[in-house]
Amino acid sequence: MRDAFLAYNPPTIGDAERAEVMDTLQTPWVTTGPKTVAFEAALKARLEAPAVVALNSCTAGLHVGLVALGVGPGDEVIVPAMTFCATANVVEHVGAKPVLVDVCPDTLTLSPEAVAAAVTPRTKVILPVHYAGHPAQMDELDALAERHGLAVLEDAAHAITARYKGRLIGSRSNLAAFSFYATKNLTTVEGGCLTGDPALVEKARIIGHHGMNRDAWKRFDRSGTWYYEVVLPGFKYNLTDMQAAIGLVQLKRLAAFQARRREVVARYESGFKDLAALELPVELEWAHSSWHLYVIRLRTEALRIDRNAFIDGLKDRNIGTSVHYLPVHMHPFYRDKYGYRPEDNPVAAAAYERMISLPLHAGLSDGDVDDVIAAVRDLVALHSV
Ligand SMILES: *Cc1c(COP(=O)(O)O)cnc(C)c1O
Repeated sequence: MRDAFLAYNPPTIGDAERAEVMDTLQTPWVTTGPKTVAFEAALKARLEAPAVVALNSCTAGLHVGLVALGVGPGDEVIVPAMTFCATANVVEHVGAKPVLVDVCPDTLTLSPEAVAAAVTPRTKVILPVHYAGHPAQMDELDALAERHGLAVLEDAAHAITARYKGRLIGSRSNLAAFSFYATKNLTTVEGGCLTGDPALVEKARIIGHHGMNRDAWKRFDRSGTWYYEVVLPGFKYNLTDMQAAIGLVQLKRLAAFQARRREVVARYESGFKDLAALELPVELEWAHSSWHLYVIRLRTEALRIDRNAFIDGLKDRNIGTSVHYLPVHMHPFYRDKYGYRPEDNPVAAAAYERMISLPLHAGLSDGDVDDVIAAVRDLVALHSV
């Protein structure tokens, strides 16, 4: 058994990031300034995005995205049940109703059939999540959006570098929100961005910067002026140059991070593929996953222990794990407000009971991965029926 506890996804931050932060502290603009502008330009190029605004979180991006799309009280937004709470919380923030629907059994991304069944005259937006880095079924979702006159807003928190049928997530004209939270594939500690059509992204930028028109936030250079006007009561969601400094370095390292993630995934795949007690994550043939998470599902009928006991067994073997996610419709707030039962989204509810996120990050050594494989195999061997 390994001596040191293996965390499931710590950030990969090095000397280059630290140097860039120290450099920023020596400039007169530590908050939103030239490094944020440079980070936005670098993101736009990397994501092949029509336009980008950097924000202080993905949650902020989803929130200003909904405001920019004019979503408010009386409206409905279709959200997959299998996601982080932020995806639904932002819908509540604008006074609309999140309609929590089921996911596909293979990828756990938003089910187009479930969306089709959930559309009402009040539906305004379809909000897919590229769960674990695997793209959602965008063609089918686009067709539904077109048929019913709906907007699409992508929760791309997991999906930097992911591709749908060859096309990068974030490169489309509809809005997509990315996260640079500490656990994500690229981090600025806290941070995010919103991509999409330039006019919509500019609107989102104003909403996320106090509703100030003109480039009042660009006052760090000579082209800025002291004058601005507030055109709506916006939010304070700007990214700082301290964070952008980290992001600029992380973007340069992203290709290497992603290559390592794919190596780890391949090692898990070959280490587990003969185990009938495990259902392994898939990458469908039209998809290029960013492999944010490696989520196995236990075939609990083949085991004498449940998911929680399996997690305890891994912890006893110094392997850290997590669960992504308790479905949103099972959280007390959503359950009680809208009267959801677990079986309203049976795929998400059943997957939740069986899922474990194994360690996946760019800093894992082959030895770390082999320790995880050995611990999982040991538990399966001990507890198979
Ligand atoms: C992390 C995450 C978010 C929120 O990202 P923040 O940058 O922390 O606001 C939203 N949706 C999903 C699916 C996430 O995993």
